[in-house]
Amino acid sequence: MGIFQIKLKELKSKLDEARGNLEAAQRQYDYNKAAEIQYGEIPSLESAIEQMEMEVRENYEGGTFPPMGCRSHLSPNKDEYGNYKWYGRFNQGVVSINLPQIGILAKGDMDKFWRIFDERLELCKEALLVRHNLLKGTKSDVSPIHWQHGAIARLEKGEVIDRLLEGGYSTVSLGYVGLCELSYTMLGVSHTTPEGEKFALEVMNHMRAKCDEWKKETGLGFGLYGTPAENLIYRFCRLDKQRFGEIPNVTDREFLTNSHHVPVWHEIGIFEKLEVEAPFCKYPTGGCITYVELDTTFIKNTKAIEQVIDYAFKELDIPYLAINFPIDACLDCGYQGEFNDACPECGSTDIQQLRRVTGYLTGNYKTAFNKGKQAEVEARVKHS
Ligand SMILES: [Zn+2]
Repeated sequence: MGIFQIKLKELKSKLDEARGNLEAAQRQYDYNKAAEIQYGEIPSLESAIEQMEMEVRENYEGGTFPPMGCRSHLSPNKDEYGNYKWYGRFNQGVVSINLPQIGILAKGDMDKFWRIFDERLELCKEALLVRHNLLKGTKSDVSPIHWQHGAIARLEKGEVIDRLLEGGYSTVSLGYVGLCELSYTMLGVSHTTPEGEKFALEVMNHMRAKCDEWKKETGLGFGLYGTPAENLIYRFCRLDKQRFGEIPNVTDREFLTNSHHVPVWHEIGIFEKLEVEAPFCKYPTGGCITYVELDTTFIKNTKAIEQVIDYAFKELDIPYLAINFPIDACLDCGYQGEFNDACPECGSTDIQQLRRVTGYLTGNYKTAFNKGKQAEVEARVKHS
């Protein structure tokens, strides 16, 4: 749920409460209180809700859509009355394409690259359709809370979910991993250089065009998705290292770069990172994220943080920004900062480490993620 939705929900539950209190006051013949609620509290809540709903709608018309807690978006879809519908919708699945492997196989030959790329894209489409077809004929009874009681829909008992799979009501996502490494394999430079950027944007444009084409052809909600690849950045890299050996800037680490991101190990400033990633954010309708990695001291400078946020949203039109910073706390003396094994104040090892490794806050990333992801976290350059 986005922040607007959380606020709206809060307001709506306050309104329900006020209505309950009104009834109670009337039952107790407390007319003063009842009038206060009926003519004061309730109208003011109703108008706040109306205002907030208008803001939410305006936002959507402007082209930004609420992600769930992480980066994934449902591609926009309107109901039969022409209004955006966000809730009760869902994603049927993601298949992610290993971009660097195509570059490795093409060995810098552009014609070969585009040919293999198209073959792989067809394979992704096929895999996604397998999943879609498997879902067809599923009865609402498999999970009543989702399909019958409103978490997703209110279907009849025994009804199949098929109509919710069609017409873009639910989405089908093509994900991508390692755009940066692909650029290295084909051009010897990253996609943060002008030459690399031009090529990488063509790749993005092609994937997006494919999704649009598939959507037209099948009527299904195909969308492009900047895969977080929490496990996949490790898996793809490991498999390609086994098969092709260590290729500098491609398979010589334990991980590939997530979606179209600037690699975590690049020394780059905050504003420059935002500028490099912004043009890529136009393509993934299924969601993507732009993050900056800060150290603890930086976050105390609220003015600077405000500038980062303004620049990202107002100047660059970045759809979803995240600011990552470490919060380590000593459970003995309460000291907060960034520390590794022990509290610098009292030396206690009873510490809690909070990190935003991916979409969610993580307690201990060393147990929550695989080796590749841990190596990626450790390689992250702090942006300043
Ligand atoms: Zn301490």
